[in-house]
Amino acid sequence: MKKNLNRYLSLTLVTALILLFSTCDAFALKEINIPNLSKIKKMIIKYKESGDWAKEMEQQAQKGIAIIEEHHNKNVKQAIVFDIDETSLDNFAFYKKYDFGYNSDAWHKWMHENTAPAIKANLKLYKKAVEKGIAVFFITGRGEIKREATEKNLKAAGYLIYKKLILRDKNELGVPAAAYKSARRKEIERLGYEILLNVGDQYSDLEGGYSKFIIKYPNPIYFLK
Ligand SMILES: [Mg+2]
Repeated sequence: MKKNLNRYLSLTLVTALILLFSTCDAFALKEINIPNLSKIKKMIIKYKESGDWAKEMEQQAQKGIAIIEEHHNKNVKQAIVFDIDETSLDNFAFYKKYDFGYNSDAWHKWMHENTAPAIKANLKLYKKAVEKGIAVFFITGRGEIKREATEKNLKAAGYLIYKKLILRDKNELGVPAAAYKSARRKEIERLGYEILLNVGDQYSDLEGGYSKFIIKYPNPIYFLK
């Protein structure tokens, strides 16, 4: 009888210890600082829709406008380079619709709808460059196959005048963005232009030289090497 009681007490003690450690583990999880994906998505939507994103874009675009005002020179063949997605055109509606996931078929469809609006702050910067007679070049990571759709969307968004739209050739499709974009800027300089300003939302839009000044816009959604 006493033996059975001891066994019962031992089992109870082991069970209690297991429960105690499980509880400790559950509490311990609260100490681990891992961001929560659904909360981050909500933060990004708030950042975009509260006007904070637009404010930061405006601040950066104004820095670009100040550079143009100060450094434009009619005696020099000057150029400005713009990236397209999340710099000139705003695809936020696409990312929100697909809950920030990426699907190449859906992206292809979105691009052919030509409904991405202009990023207002950047459109101001673009208009300042055009007003000062600076040649506008767009360099995008989009493939050459997207030329027609891209041209239509740029026009619909208000980017009516530009010197050249540069898209990736077939042989550039696997090239890292920074290498592809800087090589294309080098070509622009070979044509005799001084690239006064290079504008993008990714560091890979801006790395590799061939521009006097750079402007980096915020992009809370994705990062491209
Ligand atoms: Mg971009």
